[in-house]
Amino acid sequence: MPIEMNFCPRCAHELEDQEKFGRVRRVCPSCGFIFFRDPKVAVGVLVEDGERVLLVRRAVVPQLGWWALPAGYMEFDEEPQEAARREAEEETGLQVELTGLLDVFPITNPNGRGVLIVYWARPASGDLRAGDDVSDARWFTAAELPADLAFESTKAALARWRRRHDERASP
Ligand SMILES: [Zn+2]
Repeated sequence: MPIEMNFCPRCAHELEDQEKFGRVRRVCPSCGFIFFRDPKVAVGVLVEDGERVLLVRRAVVPQLGWWALPAGYMEFDEEPQEAARREAEEETGLQVELTGLLDVFPITNPNGRGVLIVYWARPASGDLRAGDDVSDARWFTAAELPADLAFESTKAALARWRRRHDERASP
């Protein structure tokens, strides 16, 4: 079950359930604070370099040991593109240049639902290394892609990459 908010973060009074803006939410009867449970926002990058794509091996749960796109949660005070570049650098050591929006995917986590924004990117500078939260970071050609892909969004984004790659290859 998702973590529930029981006490008001503004005045510490006990929260109660009230109908607000179309559904039952936790509300503070003392100061009027309403707890809006928000979806989490994650950002990721599909980094291309010629015929190859960059994947990281996860060193954290869920899907520990599986391959995924460099990705992570946006901080509350970041812009999405800034967060995507930060996650790429933290996990792979590479500074990347974002070249477009690949897609937005639904995701789930223990606390509820969210979205993953994935950008197309290319390497700009830096040396490839396995950084935060990953045990490996490696380039793959389409023929070398690993079978143990971490998430539906990983598979969907890579399928998009392969289609784009095939379209470029065909005359
Ligand atoms: Zn309150």
